[in-house]
Amino acid sequence: MLSAPFEYAAPESLEEALDLFGGQPNARLLAGGQSLIPTLKLRLDRPPLLIDLRKLEELRYVRSEDGKTAIGALTTYRDLARSDALTGGARCLAQAAAAVGDLQVRNLGTIGGSLAHADPSADLPAAALALECTIVARSKGGERTIEASDFFRGLWTTALEPGEILSEVRFALPAGSGGAYEKLRHSASGFALVGAAAVLEMNGETCRSARVALTGVSGAPLRLPAVEERLAGQAITEDLVREACAGAGDAIDSPQSDSSASAEYRRAMANVFARRAILRAAA
Ligand SMILES: Cc1cc2nc3c(=O)[nH]c(=O)nc-3n(C[C@H](O)[C@H](O)[C@H](O)COP(=O)(O)OP(=O)(O)OC[C@H]3O[C@@H](n4cnc5c(N)ncnc54)[C@H](O)[C@@H]3O)c2cc1C
Repeated sequence: MLSAPFEYAAPESLEEALDLFGGQPNARLLAGGQSLIPTLKLRLDRPPLLIDLRKLEELRYVRSEDGKTAIGALTTYRDLARSDALTGGARCLAQAAAAVGDLQVRNLGTIGGSLAHADPSADLPAAALALECTIVARSKGGERTIEASDFFRGLWTTALEPGEILSEVRFALPAGSGGAYEKLRHSASGFALVGAAAVLEMNGETCRSARVALTGVSGAPLRLPAVEERLAGQAITEDLVREACAGAGDAIDSPQSDSSASAEYRRAMANVFARRAILRAAA
């Protein structure tokens, strides 16, 4: 099916894009198009204007210095998966990006588009939570920052306001952190039935602190505080991690249940994939 007609603009700068978006909040931003274009073609959305961000080279970067990392919104999954800057705990983001869809989707899809779209089965939101990312939103009125824990509000819903463009994702990690992402893929679509991201701050074999997050299991990604508390201050062993994750699935308040996977199966797989992500992060 073809999309409904729309006007099209391809601004040359973020300032120009913000002017256009501020004047037409019903417009849609086009980044990689990997979610937006199918939505338009199915006529689930009929925006009057598409603002194509793809000329904004100023939003394509991964910068890392002194444990602080900043990533431009138009950075693709491919660039994240291959980035030399995403080491230690940040590996969970690189691994989540490498686990997305197929080569074509990874070449085009962007971190900004993924987080702004907030698909409940998307991979990057779990990594954003585990990394305690700060999300930068720009508008004509200026800039504000939103913590990842406040950003995801439910199915395809975020804290972004009309006229705001997600411009950057930031996080800081202590030295000696490890990270990993593990995913149970839907056999047809490749989306996460369950995805688990883990970031551990390690001191030798002992875990100083842990952050573990799930995606694919409910309307929005979620942290697993009980698992994190059980690991903090402990030597990481397979037995400990198995015990800590035994109730991970029970922390999901309203688990998704559909023709692909029942709520019960998702809960059980949450235990397994949280455990795998933690052990890989600690390795
Ligand atoms: C075949 C296929 C398989 C896929 N498999 C997976 C998978 O396994 N895992 C996974 O996580 N995803 C998967 N996806 C979805 C893919 O990751 C999308 O790329 C992603 O959801 C959106 O990123 P995008 O850059 O393509 O954004 P677009 O599709 O261009 O935009 C998506 C939405 O975000 C908004 N938006 C985009 N950029 C910004 C911004 N900077 N600020 C504010 N709003 C913005 C747009 O207006 C739009 O509403 C798959 C997609 C396809 C087609």
